[in-house]
Amino acid sequence: MKCPDCGEDIEIEDWMGDEPFGCPYCGIILRLITSKDAYSDANDKRLVICE
Ligand SMILES: [Zn+2]
Repeated sequence: MKCPDCGEDIEIEDWMGDEPFGCPYCGIILRLITSKDAYSDANDKRLVICE
């Protein structure tokens, strides 16, 4: 998954929950957002910058 700030790929497969974490490349604090689609039952995950 790409860091929204520096664009580097971050491995988040072992990372669960909604605790903020630092990008290992640029150090910015990120949060993983999971939004569930009630219709297709798909999970949409994306990284956002934690303000
Ligand atoms: Zn980054």
